[in-house]
Amino acid sequence: MKEIESKELQKWKDKYPLLKKLISMDEVFWLNPNVVDFHTGIKKSPLNHKDVRDAEERLKRFAPFIAKVFPETKEMNGLIESPLVRIPAMKRSLEQAYQQPILGELYLKCDSHLPISGSIKARGGIYEILKHAEELAFQHQLLTLQDDYSILDSDRFRTFFSHYSIAVGSTGNLGLSIGIISAKLGFNVSVHMSSDAKQWKKDLLRSKNVKVIEYEADYSKAVEEGRIQASNDPTCYFVDDENSHDLFLGYAVAASRLKKQLEEQEITIDEDHPLFVYLPCGVGGGPGGVAFGLKLLYQDNVHCFFAEPTHSPCMLLGLMTGLHDKVSVQDVGIDNVTDADGLAVGRPSGFVGKTIEPFLSGNYTVSDEQLYKLLKELVDTEGIHLEPSALAGMIGPSKLCKEGIEYLQQHHLTEKMSKGIHIVWGTGGSMVPEEMRTKYYEKGAKLALEKQQ
Ligand SMILES: *Cc1c(COP(=O)(O)O)cnc(C)c1O
Repeated sequence: MKEIESKELQKWKDKYPLLKKLISMDEVFWLNPNVVDFHTGIKKSPLNHKDVRDAEERLKRFAPFIAKVFPETKEMNGLIESPLVRIPAMKRSLEQAYQQPILGELYLKCDSHLPISGSIKARGGIYEILKHAEELAFQHQLLTLQDDYSILDSDRFRTFFSHYSIAVGSTGNLGLSIGIISAKLGFNVSVHMSSDAKQWKKDLLRSKNVKVIEYEADYSKAVEEGRIQASNDPTCYFVDDENSHDLFLGYAVAASRLKKQLEEQEITIDEDHPLFVYLPCGVGGGPGGVAFGLKLLYQDNVHCFFAEPTHSPCMLLGLMTGLHDKVSVQDVGIDNVTDADGLAVGRPSGFVGKTIEPFLSGNYTVSDEQLYKLLKELVDTEGIHLEPSALAGMIGPSKLCKEGIEYLQQHHLTEKMSKGIHIVWGTGGSMVPEEMRTKYYEKGAKLALEKQQ
């Protein structure tokens, strides 16, 4: 669909009252009218528990290789996992700033500190490349299920993989993950970067022998170019961020890892102790995969919300209109210009939108200004540095408690909130260079000050 005609758009605005606010780029909070109970939803799903377990097993097979080539994962025996931390000081700060009590405990899932590439993309991106490498090695009888996969760290395998290439389009973080793991295995890898991608991410990749191709246009264009390059070369494998089931499944493995962490910290999730999860959303694979994995484990006791920038609410637009990838934010006059580079996506994944639709509780938008203020506040209160995109989840608990009363009533949650757990998914930030970190913080400080005056 190209730009929507004004008559058509007016019809939509009448049908979806929130659309006007969305187009004005005001913050909105949307409840998904198509959410159903877990057992009804899973019947329609193209993926299931078995698919996620298969991904989990594959990551276990690769763990000896990962531990060997990325020493920072050694302590975790080659599992790429991040801490779950309680953030009570940030909770108090949010309650004050938004004049809204947050009932229940507040936690941060620090995917910002995932080893190897410092963002949620270290889950899906790395998983997809490992799966591809395994398939190639199986086909050529170089590897069996019984092998210790640390043998992949050898000239023999690197030479083998050097006959194959990998391509991906990215706003930055996916490129980092795919580039680093592919180069480590020995693949030739090209990353097609959108105009939003930060210079340091490009520099870092080039230093690791990754070919970086830059575009003036946005994410969708970078993906399109990557796809074209790959289709002309039979030895080239294209990581399709818009449609990939493997990426989605790699993200979904996060759920069983989180469940284990909650159990270790003696945090109960059940009918009387609901779990709320707030996930920053770009094209949808990361938050969609994590949410899907969590629904499989916690079913109706987990409630997932996506968060998007006010300038790039592509998933919300796709879900609200039911058009999914047939509509872009530009079609309705939204510019897709945001400092939240990981979320600067104008058109959502249709696959993710349709898969997650029966399970997602809602979606909200947040302004860039808020992201910076929250970034500064998290440093001040908890000493944790995230990148702007990764703060989109942080305002979720306040919004739910303030604007989601209808949802809480419908799902009989009102009385249970004080025993609830809120997990904000901190999707990236530990690899941001010091200098940029300072700039982000200062911007947040300046904005906070302006508000006071
Ligand atoms: C990619 C990314 C997301 C969102 O993931 P999608 O799969 O694009 O929806 C969120 N936060 C950060 C920091 C990211 O890099």
